[in-house]
Amino acid sequence: QQASVLLRLSGLKVAYGGIQAVKGVELEVREGELVSLIGANGAGKSTTLKAITGLQPVAMGEVQYLGRSIKGQGAWELVEQGLVMVPEGRGTFTRMTIIENLQMGAYTRRDAEVQADMERVFELFPRLKERARQLAGTMSGGEQQMLAMGRALMARPRVLLLDEPSMGLSPIMVDKIFEVVQDIHRRGVTVLLVEQNASRALQLADRGYVMESGLITLQGPGRQLLADPKVRSAYLGE
Ligand code: ATP
Repeated sequence: QQASVLLRLSGLKVAYGGIQAVKGVELEVREGELVSLIGANGAGKSTTLKAITGLQPVAMGEVQYLGRSIKGQGAWELVEQGLVMVPEGRGTFTRMTIIENLQMGAYTRRDAEVQADMERVFELFPRLKERARQLAGTMSGGEQQMLAMGRALMARPRVLLLDEPSMGLSPIMVDKIFEVVQDIHRRGVTVLLVEQNASRALQLADRGYVMESGLITLQGPGRQLLADPKVRSAYLGE
């Protein structure tokens, strides 16, 4: 028996004024999966994520989470339901400390385990613990990515949407970020990962989708896409 579908996009279209950025995307994410969405710069990957979390209006089609339409719902409302995004560019609160940023992530929660979860985030990212009282704006890009991911985990996501977490980072930091993505997934969080680093993203993925000019052009198990000649020539530089 297959795991249940947590997130489903059907016929999703998104436009910026007259420009169609997403032209009818079909995509699903099942419970427990790590799904990667890859594609060139400008293919419409970020726009797809923004449409899921209500940052960009849906022009046509459906976005369903847990079997219900979530069109028009705001980001906070979705966080409360376990659908949490780490945006491109991280969006950390630069004038707040690491601890304050992490506390903001738990903003929608009413339970008493916030402190314990913060300890868990610190285990995942020891660097954040070392810098706990430092202002987020003084940290490196990689550290801020860690913080953004840590903050998202503080909301106890059921589904985590990651927009280009490796972008602009040093090779060592890229390794670290992909390790943590895998770790988060192993701990039971369902992940939709948007990446330009196709090779790394497909290595981790149960399934992958390739996006070109606003449409899904290929999909399949991560390993299968990695071996696909079209993927290899277009995205892996072969
Ligand atoms: P990237 O890796 O650069 O984020 P992407 O695959 O995520 O690429 P999008 O950012 O979703 O692509 O962009 C899809 C298309 O929409 C591109 O043609 C882009 O120029 C356009 N676009 C994105 N944001 C805006 C905006 N705010 N206003 C107008 N056009 C936009």
